[in-house]
Amino acid sequence: MEKEIDKHAISLSAVSAYDVDKELAALLETSYEKAQRSSDSIYRAKCFYEIQTCRELGNTEDQCKIGVYVNETVSTYHGHITKTIKDINIAAPGIKLYKTDSNNAKITIGEGKENGCYTQGIFKGPHGAYVHLDTDWSKDWKEQTTIHELLHALGFQHEFKRKDAEKYVNINTDDYQYIDKGDHQKIRGLTRFDPFSVMMYPEDEEMERLENGDIVWRLKSGTTPNKQMSELDKVALNLVFRPCIENDYNPKIGPVTDMLYCGRSVMTGNQQITPTGTDGRCGPDNWANCPACRVLIDGVKMKCQKMHDKGKWQGWSGVFYCGKKFTTPKTYGKNGTSLEHDGVCGPDNGPPCNDCGRELYPEYEYSKEVESDDDCVIL
Ligand SMILES: [Zn+2]
Ligand SMILES: [Zn+2]
Ligand SMILES: [Zn+2]
Repeated sequence: MEKEIDKHAISLSAVSAYDVDKELAALLETSYEKAQRSSDSIYRAKCFYEIQTCRELGNTEDQCKIGVYVNETVSTYHGHITKTIKDINIAAPGIKLYKTDSNNAKITIGEGKENGCYTQGIFKGPHGAYVHLDTDWSKDWKEQTTIHELLHALGFQHEFKRKDAEKYVNINTDDYQYIDKGDHQKIRGLTRFDPFSVMMYPEDEEMERLENGDIVWRLKSGTTPNKQMSELDKVALNLVFRPCIENDYNPKIGPVTDMLYCGRSVMTGNQQITPTGTDGRCGPDNWANCPACRVLIDGVKMKCQKMHDKGKWQGWSGVFYCGKKFTTPKTYGKNGTSLEHDGVCGPDNGPPCNDCGRELYPEYEYSKEVESDDDCVIL
């Protein structure tokens, strides 16, 4: 049923990495300029993130309400399903998943005829989505599989099926789950490639990381499977489902930084860069906002637009970056993890330069963020 999903995946109305390529082609006049620019990763990141933050906040009536029916036969999954519905609703205020009866559901969850867990169709397809959950599935995998399958039901595909996947992974198998049968099965990436996505399969002999393929792998030291939605999964959800004001989500512009913040405790997830002194909330008056709050309000010149004028953009971590090399590369420890900094501000992750960091947190100090209990190793 992969084909059924792909047919609808193309209609997702979000800005994708593919659209950025199209935009770049239109913007750059000469073929020399195109060749230069398209190989410049920082320039590409800048264009990508600028285009990504140009959606407008919606109203409650614009919210996408999706009924979910859960069959009794998958009772061992009930706790995980309830939590996944809650997690998706919190991450993306443009979606309202709610449990309902079988007649009104656009997503049905039940036991499949075959072994394994899989999803047929997507919620907005003619027959809705059917999520098959295997009751004999390993207990350790039920949580992430529930999130993974529900994201399929919302129209998301595997991360390694992107058009540009060969830059990031080696597929060493003929298994149909990995191998594309033609271009029609390759999907546009909504965000940059994301090794932390819950839509990745675990790394093993069938699919190995391409260590020299992209610097992004350095952010993920081990091959631990991804158990939760990643930061970029949440960004992608908010690109597809426009964030909408509702009871639990009513963002306001913060007084100190002029950024849109919702104040919810949603900033302690994966891959967030939080300087010492900030709490786990989206604002309300400092540091990065959550992926849902990276939207525009009609008639107001937002901080991200002012930053674009200064040549800065809001990257993967939600922090502003300028892409300039400002210090020497180093490795450092934070919260028990060994990290690397290449000395460049962004382009999409890591502690920014002081100038960019202070756009969101006046006391920000780069040297404080990369200090270690051990002496810093200069590479
Ligand atoms: Zn899958
Ligand atoms: Zn927020
Ligand atoms: Zn900077």
